[in-house]
Amino acid sequence: MRPAILNPLFAAPTALRGVGDKLGKLFEKLTGPRIADLLWHLPVGLVDRRHAPMVAEAMPGEIATLTVTVDQHVPGGSPRQPWRVRCHDESGELTLVYFRAHGDYLAKQLPVGEQRVVSGTIELFQGAAQMTHPDHVVPVSERERVMRVEPVYGLTAGLTSRQMVKAIDEVLVRAPMLPEWLDPDWQKRRQWPDWKSALATAHHPAETSDLDPNAPARERLAYDELLASQLAITLVRERQRSLPGRSIQGDGSLRRKVLAALPFQLTASQLTAGAEIAADMASPHRMVRMLQGDVGSGKTVVALLAMLEAVEAGCQAALMAPTEILARQHYATMAPLAEAAGVEIALLTGRYTPKQKAKIAAGLADGSIRLVVGTHALVQDEVVFDDLALAVVDEQHRFGVHQRLTLASKNDAVDMLVMTATPIPRTLMLAVYGDLDGSRLTEKPAGRKPIDTRTVSLERLDEIVEAVGRKVAAGGRVYWVCPLVEESEFIDLAAAEERFAHLKERFGHTVALIHGQMKAAERDAAMSAFSEGRAGILVATTVIEVGVDVPAATVMVIEHAERFGLAQLHQLRGRVGRGSEQSTCLLLYGPKLGEMARARLAIMRETEDGFRIAEEDLRLRGGGEVLGTRQSGLPEMRLANLAIHADLLQVARDDAKLMVERDPLLTSPRGEALRTLLYLFERDAAVLTLRSG
Ligand code: ADP
Ligand code: MG
Repeated sequence: MRPAILNPLFAAPTALRGVGDKLGKLFEKLTGPRIADLLWHLPVGLVDRRHAPMVAEAMPGEIATLTVTVDQHVPGGSPRQPWRVRCHDESGELTLVYFRAHGDYLAKQLPVGEQRVVSGTIELFQGAAQMTHPDHVVPVSERERVMRVEPVYGLTAGLTSRQMVKAIDEVLVRAPMLPEWLDPDWQKRRQWPDWKSALATAHHPAETSDLDPNAPARERLAYDELLASQLAITLVRERQRSLPGRSIQGDGSLRRKVLAALPFQLTASQLTAGAEIAADMASPHRMVRMLQGDVGSGKTVVALLAMLEAVEAGCQAALMAPTEILARQHYATMAPLAEAAGVEIALLTGRYTPKQKAKIAAGLADGSIRLVVGTHALVQDEVVFDDLALAVVDEQHRFGVHQRLTLASKNDAVDMLVMTATPIPRTLMLAVYGDLDGSRLTEKPAGRKPIDTRTVSLERLDEIVEAVGRKVAAGGRVYWVCPLVEESEFIDLAAAEERFAHLKERFGHTVALIHGQMKAAERDAAMSAFSEGRAGILVATTVIEVGVDVPAATVMVIEHAERFGLAQLHQLRGRVGRGSEQSTCLLLYGPKLGEMARARLAIMRETEDGFRIAEEDLRLRGGGEVLGTRQSGLPEMRLANLAIHADLLQVARDDAKLMVERDPLLTSPRGEALRTLLYLFERDAAVLTLRSG
């Protein structure tokens, strides 16, 4: 159970004074569901309000905190004219300007004849000092509260800086003193403050250098986060290692049949990966291996061969995919090959009727079905295996840890192979998975032509539409991906629907639409219309990102490419170039393309190497955002930035390893403190491994 000392941090933000449902929702949306999430929301800048000149001394453009007497309210008259409040101090006059003002409210806030402290940016208008929408208006008694260096936070629509500052200040007060979990020598060497002081300093920057990710307070917090994740990973890994494994070794008979049936030769990296997996399965340890390979690098065949090895050894194997589309696709690829080897393979998804499901479950339970491909339907309790030896999980970060482990827990000593098409930079790999065994498919199957990638201004949309039209008229197939407008899927959807309508008007029935809000059946219908060629253009939101395989598609158009993460662009581009025909990817960018965005799109033009793209993305954007973590489902780092704190990551890993060696159950005083750290960062699952360990 979570230590009680942490409870105040795990309440909802509405537990804070002055935070009601509305504000609570905004906090939740921006930072997360708990009070602790507010703590992780560090300032991105600061405003120094300590400058308190007389009105006559205040310079235009500077932030000043002025103490003035209110003289007169001058209502705007027409809606376009602002409400003005005339004020003065001994040195001169100041006018406060409010557009779309609520007069009653202002009259109360700034009563005529009284003194008020106002803080904001000084402007000069026709030779007179004025301040438009002051940031603060308070009674003189609260002058000290305003006259300080104010942190600037990332906000969301409807949330003001004041509300944010106030809430975080209160959280800082509520934050408990926690036992120190850092190694004392290490802490001393880095001259890091204790946890609570670090938070206070990080949230109250006194000067710009305090915002530096390498400022001691921020470094400490980053290290805490890294240490929590490394410790969690190390604990889980140790637990897996300590579990009994079994040696799975086949005679190669089934694999030989499949290899003979393949219309191609395996690439060198497919062969290497296959050998690594086979060796791992043959060893008496429990396998937990990641198979990383770019889209189209041919992971499915590698997985199938591993699965067949399990069957050769007299056992069963299962592959779990994150979506219905992907499960069906894997099944479609694997079924003919399994048949060539004379092995029964089943598909199991949530869309089957209870009767169909029961039939497959029976086959798995009595062992008549040796191979199964499915969605999370596979982890349901009704599904029991005769003797499952290998669980393959595709695109694994889309699953919760829980689902992943459940599939592996369907039998004793199940070997696990996780496949991902997201190229993960080494630093991030270490951060998220620790030193997980990995196999990488680094080359594309022979015969693939490089994709011709171009960046084109959206101003040339008409030309692009015409070119797409010509392509489709010649029998080609085109993906058209619509931009990520905001966090909201609904807004993305509107953009996609609009483009769909536009293209449909121009090209008629050959245009299909697919998006995440559609019913599964509609989505399948659109998908098959496109893959069977009844539709030539598939307008999509990013639902097509993962795994969709239509080799005949040769053009990928991505609108507002600058809004996507590089890894995501890479995934999307990987949807084409899957056949032997020359493919094209058009990255359409909007106006006002910044330096960074330009550099990022240039990388896309330069290379198709997913690992290089991921490294560059990490370098350019830092850890939190890399891979479009939100989309990919990889746990986000809130305090650490992997591009900057890579050295700390190494230390955290060594620290965690040593700790687990010395105190595997975390019972020493430092061990106890580290348990608190794990809970603080919601690594409860890792703590659970301790109990049974
Ligand atoms: P991914 O790694 O994206 O899952 P797939 O396994 O779906 O890639 O393979 C993509 C396509 O490449 C499939 O049509 C597959 O049959 C084909 N393929 C796989 N390996 C090879 C190879 N060595 N040579 C040629 N084509 C291959
Ligand atoms: Mg695949």
